[in-house]
Amino acid sequence: LRKHKVTVVGCGNWGSVAAKLIASNALKLTAFHDEVKMWVHEETLPSGERLSDVINQTNENVIYLPGVKLGNNVVADPDLEHAVKDSDMLVFVSPHQFVEDVCMRLAGKIRKDVEAISLIKGMEVRVEGPCLISYLISRLLAVNCCVLMGANIANEIAMEKFSEATIGYKENKEVAERWAQLFSTPYLSVSTVEDVEGVELCGTLKNVVAIAAGLVDGLEMGNNTKAAIMRIGLKEMRAFSKQLFPSVMDQTFLESCGVADLITTCLGGRNRKVAEAFARNGGKKSFDELEEEILEGQKLQGVLTAKEVYELLRINGWLDLFPLFRAVHEICIGHIPPSAIVQYGEIHLPSS
Ligand code: NAD
Ligand code: 13P
Repeated sequence: LRKHKVTVVGCGNWGSVAAKLIASNALKLTAFHDEVKMWVHEETLPSGERLSDVINQTNENVIYLPGVKLGNNVVADPDLEHAVKDSDMLVFVSPHQFVEDVCMRLAGKIRKDVEAISLIKGMEVRVEGPCLISYLISRLLAVNCCVLMGANIANEIAMEKFSEATIGYKENKEVAERWAQLFSTPYLSVSTVEDVEGVELCGTLKNVVAIAAGLVDGLEMGNNTKAAIMRIGLKEMRAFSKQLFPSVMDQTFLESCGVADLITTCLGGRNRKVAEAFARNGGKKSFDELEEEILEGQKLQGVLTAKEVYELLRINGWLDLFPLFRAVHEICIGHIPPSAIVQYGEIHLPSS
């Protein structure tokens, strides 16, 4: 029986943790080839060394996940085509703004029988309408694409602290179960749900709410306000997802990808952290500046997603139906002050 070969397409904070998880399972499970490839968007360290060489020499991603061994069977490869050449399972995990370029470079260069999964939280808006990242991958590469989302702050999973994740799939449960096998460990419990759009939109939209939660932290408004923002945000996430895809299931919002990811990101995520700094600075420093200062090369997804969501609200005439999503974008671009995150609430937010 042919063993499945896996490539992780991305080497950031979560990409590195995904490679670590997969590598430990690949060694244990006979269905998978031992070696796991990780495509590295090459960088040069201050020492002059190349990141991919350092990962292969030290078994550590010293930029995006310092101090954590990935497993000796992870092989970093800066050549995208070469990294995916023999693989039939591709794990997409770069920040969402880079995925289209990556897929265009891969089109026609992958095996015909590839199964893909996206761990990417974000979306794109096209003239023809919204485009989920899993749809983008499916379309550009002509592959089936599942998603894995959940309450998964990468540094905590790297420390092997218990958490859960949700795989969203369309029709083919067998493939979803194979992905679940590849990611499940005693400290990561993975379930599957036949609602790929619902799972992906949960992961995508909670980043917009996390920006709002960070603003509330920066304004020192306390726990009740933050809980209110999370509740209102969850309602908008569900309503917006169903407006776009009526097939989205209510139950999905109670999985790890829904309420649990919303909570963990609003408490401990990068979107929250940068938004807190934005509010503390009274909006004087832009999100781009703060991202660079605070995240050391890691990327925010919430600000771009808020912009994409706003565009959809505007096009569809839904701005008044989603006051929280609307306010987040208007605050991010400096049209209204951070404090408007709750003034909006007083004026517009429905109570139930
Ligand atoms: P990250 O934020 O650490 O991003 C940095 C990555 O972007 C690096 O791998 C860098 O090499 C790459 N990069 C920079 N410029 C690039 C370019 N031009 N082309 C291609 N790649 C480029 O990455 P991450 O944390 O792995 O996040 C990836 C996705 O996973 C995001 O959608 C994020 O929302 C999601 N996610 C992250 C976490 C987390 O805790 N970090 C958890 C769950 C999901
Ligand atoms: P941040 O990108 O805000 O850190 O969120 C990480 C995440 O998606 C946790 O599940």
